[in-house]
Amino acid sequence: MSSGKLPSKSHDFFGWYNEVIYQAQLVDESPTRGCVVLRPYGYALWENIVHIMDKRFKEKGIENAYFPLLIPESFLKKEAKHVEGFSPELAVVTHAGGKQLEEPYVIRPTSETIIYHMMARWITSWRDLPMQLNQWANVVRWEMRTRPFLRTSEFLWQEGHTAHATREEALEKAKEMLGVYIKFITEELCIPIFAGEKTPKERFAGGDATFTMEGMMPDGKALQMGTSHLLAHSFPAAYGVQFQDKDGQMKSPWCTSWGTTTRMIGAAVMVHGDDAGLVLPPAIAQYQVVIVPIFKTDEEKVTVLAAANAQKQALENADIRVHIDARDERPGAKFFHWELRGVPIRLELGPRDVAQQSLMMAPRIVAEGADRKITVAFDALVGTVHGALKTFAQLLFTRAKTYRDAQLSNATKGTLESFGKNIEAYNGFVKAGWCFDRACEEALVAYKGSIRCILDEMVPDEAQCFGCQKPATHVVLAAKSY
Ligand SMILES: [Zn+2]
Repeated sequence: MSSGKLPSKSHDFFGWYNEVIYQAQLVDESPTRGCVVLRPYGYALWENIVHIMDKRFKEKGIENAYFPLLIPESFLKKEAKHVEGFSPELAVVTHAGGKQLEEPYVIRPTSETIIYHMMARWITSWRDLPMQLNQWANVVRWEMRTRPFLRTSEFLWQEGHTAHATREEALEKAKEMLGVYIKFITEELCIPIFAGEKTPKERFAGGDATFTMEGMMPDGKALQMGTSHLLAHSFPAAYGVQFQDKDGQMKSPWCTSWGTTTRMIGAAVMVHGDDAGLVLPPAIAQYQVVIVPIFKTDEEKVTVLAAANAQKQALENADIRVHIDARDERPGAKFFHWELRGVPIRLELGPRDVAQQSLMMAPRIVAEGADRKITVAFDALVGTVHGALKTFAQLLFTRAKTYRDAQLSNATKGTLESFGKNIEAYNGFVKAGWCFDRACEEALVAYKGSIRCILDEMVPDEAQCFGCQKPATHVVLAAKSY
């Protein structure tokens, strides 16, 4: 982990990614294979994500709970598709307390099985429904090839699990929670996404319907940013979850599960960063504003720091996260330090500024043609910074969407032969027609692509399936993926 100049993001994207996350101190390598350590500056991003999303979940009637990390192995085997989907990735505990266990435990890859076991105890009547739970936790899925934030053997996530009396209500909930994710990812992470349903081939192991959000990364590949599932009706039934309905009949509830992970941080790093380092969305940045005091003499230092503290207080009173960099270091080195770390707004404050009751504001990035630095009077600072953070977030989203749209092509009347080679050679997203046949879907594999999701869009007249050229019944998003 050298520190110093970053590789160019446009010329060496992964070289850049692998350097910037270490140099900006988001993560460090861990002695545990396939895992990383989240350093305070990286963990703060997750804390802010948790803070915002947790509030939104609770507004939707979701309650938090916590279930054991270790799950009896037999639990996973009760649902054939589920265990089949996860078994290569399972880490299993066979020994504890100095002896071999009678039954091994798996480290949770996800918690449906143990949660349904508990729901079977807690749900008896229609009056107990809906039951709407969420867990903030870590999970383990053993990975051969890992990349910090995007794919690690252990990662942090939230998993929501709800049970409902009817399929309609559960389906509605699965879509509602996807909506919560879409709002967060587009408005707070400033990343444009395509949302839609997964094909039967790509859906969750044990699911009836899977909804997804797919973001485009700067290399033109799709990154799945979160999923929401309607579980197969047989899944909770396999764990004995039953309720007596209003008509007196015993029935199995319909369940949903939905999750997002620390992968969202990796996406924000990849989408927004530049050759100078991170560019953080204000909503998740540990510090939205950094104040760099500039002084030469001790007397100046006292004056400048007093003014800096007063402005920090004013900003904090308006719920803006501020840090004063009072280290004994040259201002230029401090500018570099915070640019690398992607703080949205830098304020520079020297003795002359204090005398004039103003300071210099320099956002980490500005719109083309806008001033890189502007003078702001102390009494206008809170309002100006507030507006600048909003403008900053909009700029991030617009920049990302402009790039994404430029890499998106429409081939609803085209064939795989016409666009497959482009996906293989240049990546990018393609909107294509599809007949819903799995054989056509699998033809994409030859070009290293897949159907990322079925878009909720009208099928244009004369749209044809990219594989068999029969009339299309769906419009899909095809791409390479992470
Ligand atoms: Zn077809």
